[in-house]
Order: sequence, then C-alpha cells, then structure tokens
Amino acid sequence: MTGSANFSTLPHFSHLYIEEEAFAYPLAQRLIDRFPNAEIVRITGYRGIFTRPKQDFPLQKHSMKLIAAVKKDRFLYPGSGHSQGFGMENFFYSTPILNCVYNCDYCYLQGMYPSGNLVVFVNEEDFFAAARQTLAERVNPAQPLYLCLSYDTDLLAFERILPYCRSWIEFARRTPDLLIELRTKSAAYRSIADIQVSERVILAWTLSPAQTATRYEHGAPPSRRRIEAIRQAVTDGWPVRLCFDPVIDLPGWQRAYETLIDDVFARIDPMSVRDVTFGVFRMTASYFDRMKRRRPDTDLVYEPYERIDETVACPAERRQAIRDFMTERLCRYVPEERIAAWA
Ligand code: SF4
Repeated sequence: MTGSANFSTLPHFSHLYIEEEAFAYPLAQRLIDRFPNAEIVRITGYRGIFTRPKQDFPLQKHSMKLIAAVKKDRFLYPGSGHSQGFGMENFFYSTPILNCVYNCDYCYLQGMYPSGNLVVFVNEEDFFAAARQTLAERVNPAQPLYLCLSYDTDLLAFERILPYCRSWIEFARRTPDLLIELRTKSAAYRSIADIQVSERVILAWTLSPAQTATRYEHGAPPSRRRIEAIRQAVTDGWPVRLCFDPVIDLPGWQRAYETLIDDVFARIDPMSVRDVTFGVFRMTASYFDRMKRRRPDTDLVYEPYERIDETVACPAERRQAIRDFMTERLCRYVPEERIAAWA
C-alpha cells in the first residue's frame, strides 16, 4: 500500500485489508479462507486505503492487495456514453469490484482509480436490492433493465476467488425483466460451466489479435484460450457477445483483425452468437491525462488523438477506417443489425 519497492515484490494478495463491518459477511470469510497466509489488516473504511494520495498505480499492479468493504450507496450508475448500450433505454452498470486482476495498457482504470489494488464489496444482497428497485423504477417498462457488471473490473477472472458471476447469474434467473452483461478477457468459463443457462445473462468476451494481446493485455490469457472458452459457452447455449474493443491500429492491423475474425468464426457458429461489438480507443480526457502521467512506458499514450468534448479518441479518419474495415469483415459472418460500434 505504501508503494515501497519491498512491498511491491510480495505476491499478489499477500495482504487483505478488511473493514470491521465486512467481517460479518460470508464473502469476507471466504477471502480469508482463500488466502490463509495473507496478513489481515483491520480497517475502518476502504476509502482511507484505496483513495489515499500519492499511491503508485503501476507499481501496485505488480503486487495487488485486496480490500474487502461494505458499499453504502450508489450501487448502480447510468450507462456511460463510452459504452455500447445496444439501444437499451434502461442501461446501467454496477461495480461489485473496483479494479482488475489484469493490467491492460489501454485500460481507463489507470486514469480513474488512485490505486492499483482491488476493492471487493461483500454486501451482495444490497446490490441485488438496488437492482430490484432500479428495475421497478425503470424509464421504459417495455424493455428490461440492462445491467453491465464487469466494466470496472473483470468479474469472471476473479470467479475462482469470489463467485460474483455465479451469484449474479442466479439472481438474474429469479428476476424477470433483468438482463445482465458479464464482460471478460478470462478463459475461466469452466468456473461457471455447471450453471444452468439463462437468457437473462449475456456472456461477453473481449478479443484482440495476438500481437495486440501480447503487447498490451498483461496478465490476460491469449485470445486462442478465450476463443475456446467462447466455443464452450456457445455450445452450452449461453447468449454470447463478441467484443473487438478497442481495435488498436498497429502496423498490419487489418491483416491481424482479418485473421482473428476468420479464426473466431472458423471455431464458432456465427448464428449462435447473440451480437458483436467493436470500438476504437477512447477515454474520458481527465482519465487519459492521468494515465499519460502514470504510464509513460506505453506507446499508446503518445498517439495523436483527438479531443472531442471530454473524450480522447482516435482521429476521425482512423475511426472511419476502423469502422469501415471492421463492419465489412464482420458482416461476412454476422448480419449488420447484430453489430454495434463505437468508432
Ligand atoms: S481486462 Fe478490462 S478492466 Fe481489466 S485491465 Fe483489461 S481493460 Fe481494464
């Protein structure tokens, strides 16, 4: 937590910071059981640890600590304009975990959070109650409440530690008019493969060409393992979303994405895929500015981006090139009405 060199060489989750109030919850006990050798530090409030000034996000990612907390308010947020809402009017997201076990160079979390450590909220029932209330009050009752749960983290990558995906899937199953999206780069489908398929759950996988994944998606499994996980999920009957997002236009990107798309649909029946998204690199400007200060080691921060209002994104001509290319390639397999884009 201090960011000292010694602290950063410890293994991940060597320390569990647990709010006094959180000890009463089964998920906190599960964490303690999961990491029997971890040093447990009792804390009064997670913000005192997570948002303390002068933390070193990149250094902390080398030895992430876990903070277990009880969330008190703001369980759901209105959907972000940087995300694809698929025409869903009742679009919200929620954050059962803050931060991610992976460490992608293009991730906005580096600019959004003051710390590289993870906060896990243990009061799941309060999240469920908030979801039920938001569902009851939704603007358009003709549409479901569309709730994305894995934007500020990767829930499936964390499933072997705490089974958030499992509990949200079971919650969705017993909650009519709820549609949840669980987005991941993980290959850990088998941790939920025994769960009965639900039409109220979209399992969404983000995919990148090998050159992009190797260069920028630190800690995440290679795309071939994600594709195998997708194949199994599709075979089992889950509604699956494919996300090519962000499309990074490295030299030779067209060939790389063409190969990736062909590989995906050689293994996965396009008719079995619910829908597909793609998008360009974009980020809230203030997050980008902070990320640039924190991550001078990644070439991504030196690209000649455009500022559009409060957003930093690829310049217009590159967005157009990506949009045209990806649309044309994806339409070879998937009808255009099942493709959504941020480009
Ligand atoms: S998997 Fe997603 S949330 Fe996690 S570091 Fe990568 S971009 Fe960020």
